[in-house]
Amino acid sequence: MISQTRENTNSIETHFAYAEQMASEHNARLTPIRKHIYRCLLEAEAPLGAYELLDMLDGVGSSKPPTVYRGLDWLIEVGLAKKIESVSKYIAKTESEETQQVALLLCDKCGHAEPFDAGPAILSLGAAAKSKGFESHQTVIEIIGRCAEHNAE
Ligand SMILES: [Zn+2]
Repeated sequence: MISQTRENTNSIETHFAYAEQMASEHNARLTPIRKHIYRCLLEAEAPLGAYELLDMLDGVGSSKPPTVYRGLDWLIEVGLAKKIESVSKYIAKTESEETQQVALLLCDKCGHAEPFDAGPAILSLGAAAKSKGFESHQTVIEIIGRCAEHNAE
């Protein structure tokens, strides 16, 4: 089903090395199923839902929803995936995003999700929450609209 991949083989290996590193930092193992889900998310052109991932399991692990959800939960916990709350879909998180304050640009025409570093904007939201006495763990910004390719339509 994956016709065009955004990542070449080289960078897939780089991402897997990062995944191994994140796993060992969490005293966990990058099991074949976790690695497979991470690969599917890395190679996907658009965010994937849990059931789409289920269809992509290809005999790696048991093809049951809990397998996928457990895999996704683990990837999120160690910082290798992100859930897009507004559409209940998932994208991979890579090393380059680790230090960024990421917001997601979601195209409602093609479904493409593009993380971008919104730096100061997100930091000042956190600061605003703090001034209300709120201690935030995570700020998730999803900006929904049209990507550059589709905004002329
Ligand atoms: Zn688009």
